[in-house]
Amino acid sequence: MSDVSLRDAIARHGLDARKSLGQHFLLDPTICARIAALAGDLSGRHVVEIGPGPGGLTRALLATPAVQVTAVELDRRAIALLAELAAAHPGRLTVIEGDALKTDVTAMVPAPRRVIANLPYNVASPLLVGWLRQAAAIEGMTLMFQQEVAERITAAPDTPAYGRLAVLAQWRCRCDLLLRLPPGAFSPPPKVWSAVVGFVPKAEDPGEDLFRAMERMTAAAFGQRRKMLRGALKSLGDAEGLLAAAGIEGTRRAETLTVAEFDTLARELLARQAGSS
Ligand code: SAM
Repeated sequence: MSDVSLRDAIARHGLDARKSLGQHFLLDPTICARIAALAGDLSGRHVVEIGPGPGGLTRALLATPAVQVTAVELDRRAIALLAELAAAHPGRLTVIEGDALKTDVTAMVPAPRRVIANLPYNVASPLLVGWLRQAAAIEGMTLMFQQEVAERITAAPDTPAYGRLAVLAQWRCRCDLLLRLPPGAFSPPPKVWSAVVGFVPKAEDPGEDLFRAMERMTAAAFGQRRKMLRGALKSLGDAEGLLAAAGIEGTRRAETLTVAEFDTLARELLARQAGSS
């Protein structure tokens, strides 16, 4: 479908973009096809798209060999438009009206699963953390964020952007910033650049308890990122003992720690919690 017919569908369904829903639409089929291609070969894959909106990216996903696309959209105004698209692709597009924050992608489609989306920016980080929890059950994710968030996800230690999101994401996935797009690629244009990050989950599943321990560890460490770790981790109990057991100097700061060092700390924290319970 061309840019013109997509604009026509938006006009017919009164889908004027709403800021409250983070709506910045991709109307250029070439850009949508490029994003779908970044996901790699989708043969045999079940794709979940979050926030299809008027369906530009959805159309590009339907043009791939993916088995099926399941799209979750909160905005009721888009549902009728998407139903037309589903009717044009019998059996290949399922549209679910609902809040992606309350849905479970692993319950929604069978494996192998991919999540591909131009995310609503206001809820992009909580959505990502939810998928990271279940990353072992997801084969891959190709997600558009505000560029600044994409840079925080892919940041290396000892850089200003390195923080909780980088550690959680890189702990669970290989993360690559794949494409940057200027505001003009979207309608209406957002204030900032956007970027696509590719996520390849690691096979091993840390389990919910260790994931929670890692969340607590990174929240404490980066909550006071200017402080030395022996001070920043005090809220977790015996900070000095925790750091000594993990072989990490208490005078270091959170941003100098590698993801592997955070992994050691989180495991140590979990072991101590288990020991005290
Ligand atoms: N995929 C479309 C595109 O690229 O043109 C739209 C992307 S737009 C950045 C984000 C979309 O997410 C909007 O259609 C918006 O209505 C939808 N959305 C916002 N919050 C949502 C939520 N909590 N659950 C599901 N969809 C949501």
